[in-house]
Amino acid sequence: AAGIDIVGLTKRYLTPKNETFTAIRDVTLRVEPGEFCAIVGPTGCGKSTTLAQVSGLERPSAGSVRVHDQLVDGITNGVSYMFQADALFPWKTVLGNVLIGPVLLGTPKKEATLLARDWLRRVGLAGFEDRYPHQLSGGMRKRVAMAAALINNPRILLMDEPFGALDVQTKAIMQNELLQLWEELRPSVLFITHDLDEAVALADKVVIMTSSPGTIKDVFDIDLPRP
Ligand code: ADP
Ligand code: ADP
Repeated sequence: AAGIDIVGLTKRYLTPKNETFTAIRDVTLRVEPGEFCAIVGPTGCGKSTTLAQVSGLERPSAGSVRVHDQLVDGITNGVSYMFQADALFPWKTVLGNVLIGPVLLGTPKKEATLLARDWLRRVGLAGFEDRYPHQLSGGMRKRVAMAAALINNPRILLMDEPFGALDVQTKAIMQNELLQLWEELRPSVLFITHDLDEAVALADKVVIMTSSPGTIKDVFDIDLPRP
């Protein structure tokens, strides 16, 4: 089926002392196509570990992840990952950062540039193409990261505490901008936060994780109007 299917996902890491540490155990979760799913839980409960397995950046110790019926076993086309840090390349301009995705997919430079300029306009950054990330405010850097994550029109959008470091007001603005883009493009979203209010405000479904080992404790369907 379309969407994301996580079944019995377990991830063990080797500690520096060469002991195994179970970061997540037996995580099973389905994200419907176009659904906005938030994962909430305390620091260290395995939220990022779960996302790393879904992204294909890491390999599960047991269990499986399927994205649109395809087993994830590496970086997958159609999956975008917005990291916790801004994860912008500091030596690249705003335009250069947004261009990375389409260029990696083989879009001709000229076409990719037009597309990137259009995306920067959509996130309110027309005129800032030639700036460098350090010349932007926190909210603006998040906009660049969102443009970079969405420019390839991903079916799956993975977000790891994207607005965690922002002030309350900027956070609210960015949450609204994200919801607008999500409603327009309808990717399936897995969104990590430790803020339950944020999860309930944004998501269709909220997954509560607990630690030692990280596993799912509860899943709630949210049926509230969005802000
Ligand atoms: P969260 O995102 O919920 O804060 P993480 O998924 O980052 O939690 O981490 C879960 C647990 O796994 C933590 O105890 C963390 O220290 C451990 N962990 C994460 N990545 C690694 C790794 N590469 N090697 C060893 N332990 C790790
Ligand atoms: P936000 O980026 O949501 O405005 P910030 O607090 O991160 O919030 O922004 C700090 C300042 O950066 C803003 O008050 C504004 O002066 C400037 N700024 C942010 N976005 C833009 C923009 N799209 N165009 C012009 N200036 C901007």
